[in-house]
Amino acid sequence: ERSTSRQSRKKVVAVVGGGLVGALNACFFAKRGFDVELFESREDIRRAKIVKGRSINLALSHRGRQALKYVGLEEKIVAKGIPMHARMIHSLNGKQSPIPYGRKGQYILSVDRANLNKELLTAAETYPNTKMNFDHKLQDWNAETGLMTFARLDGSKEQVKADLIVGCDGAFSAVRKQFLRRSRFDYSQTYIPHGYMELTMLPINGEFAMKPNYLHIWPRNTFMMIALPNLDKTFTCTLFMPFEDFEKITTGDEVIEFFQKYFPDTIPLIGADTLQRDYFRLPAQAMVSVKCNPYHIGDACVLMGDAAHAVVPFYGQGMNAGFEDCIVFDEIMDQFNEDFSAVLPEYTRVRVPDDHAIADLAMYNYIEMRAHVNSKWFLFRKYVDNILYFFMPKTIIPLYTMVTFTRTRYHEAVKRWHWQNKVINRGLLLSAVGAVLGGSYLLIKNPPDINKLIVSAEKMWDRLVALRTL
Ligand code: FAD
Repeated sequence: ERSTSRQSRKKVVAVVGGGLVGALNACFFAKRGFDVELFESREDIRRAKIVKGRSINLALSHRGRQALKYVGLEEKIVAKGIPMHARMIHSLNGKQSPIPYGRKGQYILSVDRANLNKELLTAAETYPNTKMNFDHKLQDWNAETGLMTFARLDGSKEQVKADLIVGCDGAFSAVRKQFLRRSRFDYSQTYIPHGYMELTMLPINGEFAMKPNYLHIWPRNTFMMIALPNLDKTFTCTLFMPFEDFEKITTGDEVIEFFQKYFPDTIPLIGADTLQRDYFRLPAQAMVSVKCNPYHIGDACVLMGDAAHAVVPFYGQGMNAGFEDCIVFDEIMDQFNEDFSAVLPEYTRVRVPDDHAIADLAMYNYIEMRAHVNSKWFLFRKYVDNILYFFMPKTIIPLYTMVTFTRTRYHEAVKRWHWQNKVINRGLLLSAVGAVLGGSYLLIKNPPDINKLIVSAEKMWDRLVALRTL
C-alpha cells in the first residue's frame, strides 16, 4: 500500500480517469493547491502510437471554452479548432442548404480529441503538485477508508489512499460501481438502437473536399451522417444508423449500393474504394445514456463527466457538460471554503437537474436531427425563432443558442424553451386567425370568383391544421 498523505497541509485528491474531463479536473484541483494524483488505465497517450478512444473529433462550444479559460487553456485549444458557423444540410438530390447556428460570430469549433486530451494532460503535469499515474486501472475502492486498488499491465496491484476520489472514468465508470451498492442511489442506463461508424474523407487536390466551416449533415429520417472538419483538411464522417441496418450490409457492393441510394454526393468525395474498405474496418459502436443521482458519497467521492452523465452525442454537449461540471464544482468550492462535507452534497443538488436536462435534450435531438431537419415546419420554426431572436434578443432566445452559446443552466434553458414555444405558437395562431378575419372582411367587401375562393379556403384550412399540431 502506498500512502499519498504527503508532508503537506493540503488534502490528497485522486482523479480517476485521465480522459478529457479527468485531465481538465486535475488542473482545477492542482490550481487550488491540492496534492493531485491522476490515475489513468491507458498508457500515456502522448507516447502511444495508436490512441484508442471515442470519436476522432468533437464540437467544442461556450461551456467547454469557459472551463478551459479557467485554467488558461482556451486560446491554445481554440487556435487548433476549426470554426463551424452553420450546419450544412445535404439533400438527397445533392442540394446543400446552410442553417446558421446562431448570430454572426456565433460558432462551434471542431477539435481533435486526441490532441485536446494530450494538451490537457500536459497542462495538468506542469503543476508541481500533480502526479500522473498511467497504466493504473481502478479495480475497486472502499467508500469508508478511501483505499483504491489499481491493476497494472504487468499483473501487479497497487493500493493508494486519498482524501477525495473524483470519478472521471467515463460512461462505464469503475468508481460508480460502489455507488450502485448503496441504498437510495438512482441509476438508469439506456442504449439507443443506433450505432455509429467513422469514415474519413481525404482532401482532394490538397484541399478540403467540402466547405470546411460547416458541420455537414445528411439527415435521412431513420439514420443520418454528419461530417466535421480536421486540421489536416480531412473530414471525419460519422454514420449513425440502427445496428440492424449496419448488419444488413455485408459486402463492398452493398456498401456502394447503400451510399448510392442515400448519400450519393459523398461517393466521389470519400472514394468508392476507400468506402468499401473503411466500412468494414471497425464494427459500429454503441451509444449509451446514463443518468444517476446523487453524484457523491459523503465527503469521500464525487462523479463528474460521463461517469456521472453519459449523454447521446446529438447535442454536441457531452464533453462541454463535463467541462462545465468542473467549473460548477470549483464555484461551490469557493462558496463552502473547500469543505468537502458541504461541497459534495451541494454539487449534487445543483448539478443533477442540469445534467439530467442535457441528457434529455440530447435524446430529443437524437430524433430532431434525423427527422425534423427535413421538415418544412421545423425549418419555418427555426426561421421564426431566429427572426424573433434578432428583434427581441432578450426575450426570445433559441434553445440551441442557450445551450451552445451561453452558460444558462441547462434545466433553466429547457424551462424557458417551453415558455417561449407557448408564446410563439400562440402568436402564430393569433396571426393566422387575424389573417382569416381580415381576409373574410376583404372578401365580403369585394366578392371574388367562387372557384378562387374555394382554393384560398382550402389553403387556409391546411395552414390552420398545421398550426394546431404544434
Ligand atoms: P472519457 O472521455 O470516456 O474518459 C474516461 C477516461 O477514464 C479514459 O481515459 C479511460 O481510459 C479512463 N478509465 C476508464 N476506466 C478506468 C479505470 N477503471 N481506471 C482508470 N481509468 C479509467 N461531446 C461534446 O461535447 N461534443 C461533441 O461533439 C461530442 N461528440 C461525440 C461523438 C461521439 C461519437 C461520442 C461517442 C461522444 C461525443 N461527445 C461529444 C461526448 C464526449 O466524448 C464525452 O462526453 C467525453 O469524452 C467525456 O469525457 P470523460 O473524461 O468524462 O470520459
